[in-house]
Amino acid sequence: MADNPQFVWVDGKLVPWNEATIHITAVGTAGVSLVYEGILAYWNADARKLFVFQLDAHLERFAQSIRLTRMKQPIATATIKEGILALVRANNYAENVYIRPFAFVESTSYSGMSNDQARIVVNTMPNPAPVRSGRAVHACVSSWARISDNMMPPRVKASSNYLNARYAMEEAKRNGYDSALMLNSSGKVAEAQGACLMIVRDGKVITPSATSGILESITRDVIIRLCREVLHVEVVEREVDRTELYVAREAFLCGTGSEITPLASIDRFTLGDGAIGPITRQIEALYHDIVREIDARYPEWRTAV
Ligand SMILES: *Cc1c(COP(=O)(O)O)cnc(C)c1O
Repeated sequence: MADNPQFVWVDGKLVPWNEATIHITAVGTAGVSLVYEGILAYWNADARKLFVFQLDAHLERFAQSIRLTRMKQPIATATIKEGILALVRANNYAENVYIRPFAFVESTSYSGMSNDQARIVVNTMPNPAPVRSGRAVHACVSSWARISDNMMPPRVKASSNYLNARYAMEEAKRNGYDSALMLNSSGKVAEAQGACLMIVRDGKVITPSATSGILESITRDVIIRLCREVLHVEVVEREVDRTELYVAREAFLCGTGSEITPLASIDRFTLGDGAIGPITRQIEALYHDIVREIDARYPEWRTAV
């Protein structure tokens, strides 16, 4: 494909795109062990600079996912960080870039799955950012429950966990929704397919706690801090009931890929007046500027490429 990047980073080296291959017989099992990160680098067109957002936090979580799945990380996190920056430079972007490090055990059979030597790969692709697209989406509560910590820990950013999200998303799409919210095994709200959820009630932002069956989203942490420290909006992390979704004035999804995705309705209950609410709008605008260094606060969150 003509728009592929020139290089992929494989086990510590920049490898030309066409040479970065894996044998077809290893594909099925590689996916089982695979853990990954989704990282965004934002292009500031005025400054002509590219900033990776929350690179250290993502790499710390990457190492944690590798450790929790009992794989060995053969390359130090600091080296992976340098590798990512070298890769993004080599691929020469002047636009937003999605960066995807992943680790997996290579084997051709499930019995080989107990091998613990992780291979580490990083690829990049352009990412036109949807933030401030002005669109609010329609979500449902899925009939599929979120996986739980005692079976498939959502805290680990594992590819296999996404089969749970896929069931929910495919059902939602077939029923005419854009997004699926999932309840945990206790019937409390967990998260969406690949993004965390925040609702606004009585002027407060409420989000399911870290023990509600969520992936501990870096964007979620960022928004919590921006609300408290910049916008002076109270944030509560706690269990959230399903019907609280229906009485919320505002709600939005948050995640690296989803950025801030406002919800217009949940199970066809219109939130507020169905447009993007005032608190969501403020958070969106602030996030947009912080990630691009249009707003220079929180320099520790950005790594210049
Ligand atoms: C990646 C992901 C998120 C968002 O996490 P960020 O760190 O904000 O990108 C939320 N939920 C799930 C299930 C995810 O995989």
